[in-house]
Amino acid sequence: MKLIYEKSQPGRRASAIPHFDGLPAAEVPEELRRTEPPRLPEVPEFELVRHITELSTRNFGIDNGFYPLGSCTMKYNPRVNERLVALPGFASLHPLQDEDGVQGALDLEWRLQEILAEVTGLDAVSLQPAAGSQGELTGLMLVRAYFEERGESEQRRKVVIPDTAHGTNPASVTMAGYEVTPVKTDARGNIDVDDLRTKVDEHTAALMLTNPSTLGLFDENIEEIQKIFHGVGALMYYDGANLNAVCGISRPGDMGFDIVHINLHKTFSQPHGGGGPGGGPIAVRDILEPYLPVPAVVRNEDGSFGLDFDRPKSIGKVRAFTGPFGVFVRSYAYIRAYGPRLREMSETAVLNANYVLARLKDAYELPYDRLCMHEFVLSARNLKRDYGVTALDVAKRLMDYGYHPPTIYFPLVVPEALMIEPTETETKETLDAFCDAMLAIAKEAAEQPELLKQAPHNRPVRRLDEVRAAKHPVVKYGFEQHPQPDADPHPIAIEAPKGA
Ligand SMILES: *Cc1c(COP(=O)(O)O)cnc(C)c1O
Repeated sequence: MKLIYEKSQPGRRASAIPHFDGLPAAEVPEELRRTEPPRLPEVPEFELVRHITELSTRNFGIDNGFYPLGSCTMKYNPRVNERLVALPGFASLHPLQDEDGVQGALDLEWRLQEILAEVTGLDAVSLQPAAGSQGELTGLMLVRAYFEERGESEQRRKVVIPDTAHGTNPASVTMAGYEVTPVKTDARGNIDVDDLRTKVDEHTAALMLTNPSTLGLFDENIEEIQKIFHGVGALMYYDGANLNAVCGISRPGDMGFDIVHINLHKTFSQPHGGGGPGGGPIAVRDILEPYLPVPAVVRNEDGSFGLDFDRPKSIGKVRAFTGPFGVFVRSYAYIRAYGPRLREMSETAVLNANYVLARLKDAYELPYDRLCMHEFVLSARNLKRDYGVTALDVAKRLMDYGYHPPTIYFPLVVPEALMIEPTETETKETLDAFCDAMLAIAKEAAEQPELLKQAPHNRPVRRLDEVRAAKHPVVKYGFEQHPQPDADPHPIAIEAPKGA
């Protein structure tokens, strides 16, 4: 397939909007003006549509089929969300409009904040962070502001993170200027409390925990863990990227957590995984509210809505304006579609995961044999030992069966990990067909392992050379630079290992 630049011919245009002479020319300061026009592809509209449509047939998304990418919560995105977000009152908003012209938008943001406070069991919410990882960083900045005011910021330098954590957790801790204290996972998949006790003291600023963990397991000792941290005056941070497991069932605030981030794009539907922006609001206990980012979306005494910039202790802004507004509309719509039955969303997600787990656990190894929450982690260790077939081979072969592979080799504590998250939006027929494929692959591993090692066989691209992709990333199409003789003339974008 040709690149769009290779189809370009000078003078061709994809739009035929009449030229309007009445407008004054925009005054761009001299130093910002281009000396030559940007090098854009020049193609007629139908060529552009064909090109993009052709590309879309080579991609895989939730609208193509089942996408059980663990930890990424690739649920179906209802089309009604898109209709709502396209309403002119939302779609044509400008962030610099006066407050009295955007009351509806502020009302929606305020309501979403209230819902998230209720769902997390906490007191105040900021919608500003644009992703889970940015929510983490924002939350840690609140931790720092809190201890600075108490005069303990020099003393408290450490943040405790279990070895099952999502990679963004240690990254955020380091970015926020803290030291990571790793803690082990015990034989049941919980935090190892004995290990924990030796690591938490007056130098600890916070715990950062995903519960249920990335193993899909709810920590059975959460009350005890809470006592250990609050006992030394530290704070508790809940990575709520996967709140899908517990909505309406259990609340981080009730478990003792002081700060939570929520991935709107995972839990409350939003095209993501290369397909759209995210949202990572944070909810906090009242003691942390003064430090939240500005502006805060507030309801005034007369019932109108406004933006409050007057927060002297605020950490400031972490993103422009009040956050990614389109994401708020979609998430609000998703939540309101469930109404008071939001719990059913999580119950179905958990039921689906346990159903798939029950069907697969004899063919693959199950490192922690417990009921799971929204996802579970199997290991292909048995296939590797017996037939030399790895988790990567299984994942690639699944593509031949028409499924997006699960997350593999994560969490790191499970060798040959296959992390499967079906979400609530799938039928029993789909789950059964997926299980049939997984069982067929386990059988193929025994009978014809070479078939798996070469997979996929019927996809637009064969197996990528991942080492070369990692060591020689070609992330941009060169105009002048001619490809080296041994290089792939049409390098394919490197596959992202995780969805979000
Ligand atoms: C997805 C995820 C994150 C990061 O969220 P982003 O929006 O991708 O930054 C953090 N923690 C967990 C457990 C996740 O699954």
